[in-house]
Amino acid sequence: MPTGAELRDKFLNFFSGHDHLILPSASLVLKDDPSLLLVVAGMVPFKPYFLGKAQPPHPRVTTSQKCLRTQDLEAVGRTARHHTFFEMLGNFSFGDYFKKEAIAWAWEYLTREMGLSPKDLWITVYRDDQEAADIWHDSIGVPRERIVPLGKETNFWEAGPVGPCGPCSEILIDLGPERGCGSPDCGVDCECDRYLELWNLVFMEFNRDEEGNLTELPRQNIDTGMGLERIASVVQGVPNNFETDLLFPLIKEVSAIAGISYRADPKSDVALKVIADHARAVAFLIGDGVLPSNEGRGYVLRRILRRAVRYGRLVGITGAFFSRITGRVISLYGDHYRELAERSDYIQKIVALEEERFVGTLEQGLQILEEYLEKFEKTGEKSLPGGVAFRLYDTFGFPLELTQEILAERGLSVDMDGFRSSMEKQRQKARAAWLETAPINSFGVCTAYRCSKTDFQGYASLSTSSQIQALLSKGEERGEASEGEDVEIVLERTSFYPEGGGQVGDRGIISGPAGEIAVSDTKRTPDDVIVHYGRVIRGIIRKDDLVLAQVDEKLRLATARNHTATHLLHKALREVLGDHVQQMGSLVAPDRLRFDFSHFAPLSPEEIERVEELVNEKILDNLIVNTFEAGRDDPRVRDAIALFGEKYGDVVRVVEIGNFSKELCGGTHVRRTSELALFKITSEGGIGTGVRRIEALTGEALLHFWRKQDKTVRDISEFLKVDPDNITGKIEQLVHQLHEKDKELEQLRARIILREADGLLDKVVEVDGVKLLAAQVPASDMESLRSLGDILKERLGSGVAILGSLFDNKVGLVSFVTGDLVKSRGLHAGKLIKEVARIVDGGGGGRPEMAQAGGKNTARLNEALSKGREILLRQLQH
Ligand code: ATP
Ligand code: MG
Repeated sequence: MPTGAELRDKFLNFFSGHDHLILPSASLVLKDDPSLLLVVAGMVPFKPYFLGKAQPPHPRVTTSQKCLRTQDLEAVGRTARHHTFFEMLGNFSFGDYFKKEAIAWAWEYLTREMGLSPKDLWITVYRDDQEAADIWHDSIGVPRERIVPLGKETNFWEAGPVGPCGPCSEILIDLGPERGCGSPDCGVDCECDRYLELWNLVFMEFNRDEEGNLTELPRQNIDTGMGLERIASVVQGVPNNFETDLLFPLIKEVSAIAGISYRADPKSDVALKVIADHARAVAFLIGDGVLPSNEGRGYVLRRILRRAVRYGRLVGITGAFFSRITGRVISLYGDHYRELAERSDYIQKIVALEEERFVGTLEQGLQILEEYLEKFEKTGEKSLPGGVAFRLYDTFGFPLELTQEILAERGLSVDMDGFRSSMEKQRQKARAAWLETAPINSFGVCTAYRCSKTDFQGYASLSTSSQIQALLSKGEERGEASEGEDVEIVLERTSFYPEGGGQVGDRGIISGPAGEIAVSDTKRTPDDVIVHYGRVIRGIIRKDDLVLAQVDEKLRLATARNHTATHLLHKALREVLGDHVQQMGSLVAPDRLRFDFSHFAPLSPEEIERVEELVNEKILDNLIVNTFEAGRDDPRVRDAIALFGEKYGDVVRVVEIGNFSKELCGGTHVRRTSELALFKITSEGGIGTGVRRIEALTGEALLHFWRKQDKTVRDISEFLKVDPDNITGKIEQLVHQLHEKDKELEQLRARIILREADGLLDKVVEVDGVKLLAAQVPASDMESLRSLGDILKERLGSGVAILGSLFDNKVGLVSFVTGDLVKSRGLHAGKLIKEVARIVDGGGGGRPEMAQAGGKNTARLNEALSKGREILLRQLQH
């Protein structure tokens, strides 16, 4: 029986035999298309070809494409045929062959290659597509009664209200009445599992214009899609996708961990299937660079992962288990999908961390929900207050959909209005906090005074003359401002770079006919108005002045060096650590750069060195930094690194460094890499799950850094009187000596204490037949006071001692009673010391043989010790 992997190859080879180019699956995340969350079908990566915006490498292509459909999430495990993640086999024609060939090959493939019986196959066509119906009947020989015309919802494909579109034709297999719902209406369009849709053929035939008119496309296209898991289930003769070799090993793994068997209970079977399905989705998503987060793709990942963990609870798994299942996914699929094998450790660490994080709060969250469910059972309420759902989301990490699902299982729901308003309240709080810390917010004012978009000229020149558009102070429009006043200035055009893309805003001078402004920061409003923040440092500035805006060249150059360095660093990290490295944030300032990126493990010293070396190599290669603007679909843009989740316009700016690095970027850069002089990483550390941060220096800042270090080294070497090269050896030697001295000191101290003890024995007196030693001793802390006590106890043989000492402006006291006296005379060291300590305004206690105390009144220590005799006598007579 062919395995899933063999079926995948067979399909690709079949179409390769018909002159199709086999292409590898694209990533689930299309970097060129940030508008699309995830790839949902085989044709998605080819959209530019279908729309005629780019040239395909070959007119016929075939792929097995990784797909992820969140819209099918709830169907997973409940139907035999739906997954979140699945593989779609497809053959594509870009203006080459059309309906006739597509239909004939699909039929040939299913009946000859897969050996399906033509009697079991059903066809649907779009009701107006007589041509397709005729091909199926006349050239293929499918009986008319098994060619079913259907409507637009299922059998007409369009990507949007305008653009290419066309009818579809589906091939379904009748799995027999025993697999169906039994309804008299059951047929090819029924949602049950009897008629399984295997393959969808899309005939991209028309273009729809703005008015809704359909015209024939000059070049007609074919797009087809067949689920690999579905064809595998049919060929392998199993009742659902999950029992194919593509998924069953995962089910086995989960059931082993849960200690239950598959097919023992329909309910736990659903859970096993859900977990198996979700493990594939999670492994492939992380493999394609998605990290768990609270928005976008990251949220899809988080939601699926957490849902799987919760399903684990439903089959009685209490510990962390999910990374074992994703580990199995990697071993099952790593051969074909190399990105899984290559990033195996990384994927596993991210899964384990995210699971751990959720497991910590899952139990508490479920308990809160449980309390409400119990209450609702009594009160008959049907909807969970929105605030509670929000707290579960915000504090306990429950994706809203998860809460909704748990409730839906009991016919309950979430009060969505309440949820939304809690969410909104939280947002407002965050916004208010932001406003408080933001610089004076003239954005609103600018909009109110209708400043027009500022013309940015700072790529080409560092000074620009311009009319002032708006002059503001503390957010209010002004006619003029004079020396000492803080102002915000909007010009018609400027060379000042506004903060963005991690790069700080420019500083510099704006000079007018009667005064000057020192600009300390520059920012951009959402409407592309550039605001200069500064202070009038001389004379007067008036609203309609013609001014000269001059960027501080030195700072700008230093910033540019660091910006170019971040691009080199980004690329070097990818080369040294792997393609999973993605920029997660950056700060580019004149004096330093900071770069945050996805990677699990700390970098080893060797990795840091290799990254540094690679960057420096590119600096010394003196590469040309070339920037250009181009349309988003321009072929020169296609292989540029785009920032994750960033929205780009139709025209993008590309920064290219030799042929080493190519990124979309709006920042300012040097002209040649040698301007960086040198590059050095100064720190590397973790700042969150799977996110690392590097800080580095270039140019002058690096020179300062080295000067400072060099001075430190020279100071040390002078101080130690050794060559800089011998500093380490010298310090090792000193540390060793210090250790030896410590030991010596320790021994001396012990000897002094012994001598002290001998002298003290002279002060022993007899009280009612008991030897008593009450004395002040020179101890430096409680510890030495106690060890002195221990020695004296031994020397006395039988007796009582009360020792006091002054240190740290306090009184320290210890007392002890030898064991024989505890027994024969009922003495208790704790009781003794309590009374003594009271005299010095203190307290304490302990065991019958040994006790300690402290006191505040240092002046009365002597008195306290001399009263020791009386106190002992009293206690003896008791
Ligand atoms: P269904 O009606 O069964 O959900 P669909 O109409 O959504 O399928 P298409 O969008 O035409 O399917 O996708 C093409 C092919 O991809 C389908 O014929 C099927 O073989 C496969 N497929 C679609 N969705 C899934 C899924 N969620 N899991 C597994 N395979 C799928
Ligand atoms: Mg569907």
